[in-house]
Amino acid sequence: MHADLVAISNLYAADRAIDTLRGEHESLSSAVRAARDAVASAEASVKLNEGAVATVVAAQRATDRELEDYIDKKKRAQKLIDTGAGDYAAAERQVAQCAAIIDQLETRSLELMDQRDGAESVLVSSRRELAGRQAELEAARGKLAARDAPIRAELAAAFEHQRAVSPQLPASYRLHYDDLRRRKRIVLINVDDGCCSACAMRIPPQKFVEVQKFRAVHTCVGCGGYILP
Ligand SMILES: [Zn+2]
Repeated sequence: MHADLVAISNLYAADRAIDTLRGEHESLSSAVRAARDAVASAEASVKLNEGAVATVVAAQRATDRELEDYIDKKKRAQKLIDTGAGDYAAAERQVAQCAAIIDQLETRSLELMDQRDGAESVLVSSRRELAGRQAELEAARGKLAARDAPIRAELAAAFEHQRAVSPQLPASYRLHYDDLRRRKRIVLINVDDGCCSACAMRIPPQKFVEVQKFRAVHTCVGCGGYILP
């Protein structure tokens, strides 16, 4: 390889090692963020379902109280009938009214029981979901924690290596190299069947021959990547 191309290739390898480590750290961190979001949303849904259960329970209590009131009321009216005290006809009407209302309240009470069963089972599954999400978060945190320090150490070494190889790049290449990197382009390209492996642009045979004979350093006119021999 042409000495300049060797310098480009060394720097590119050093830069890519840094990219890889940063990418690994970022993907571990973003897994933690995603798991944290999933836990937050599972917590919100547990809270919502707890609220739904509480609402049904409150309605059950109110219905039960009302039911007891009407049962008492009916008993009192029945007592008036049984003892012959007071207005018999009015007491009869009251017993009938109370019995009708008690019927409705009992039906309502059964409906609420069903609703409570439903709401509680939704709550149980949302709590199970939350536990699963929390376990995933712990796992993601564990993975990040296990790799955090090693990645930092490897990055420090990679930066040191980059600082060592960077000055070997002749200054005339710097602008183009940095431009390729900034635009996240492939810096080194192969020639397959006379075409660039990155952008498929045709590489003039003369250029390729010069690269292969280490006479010159050329770039692809399509993507700007340096042509490898
Ligand atoms: Zn190209």
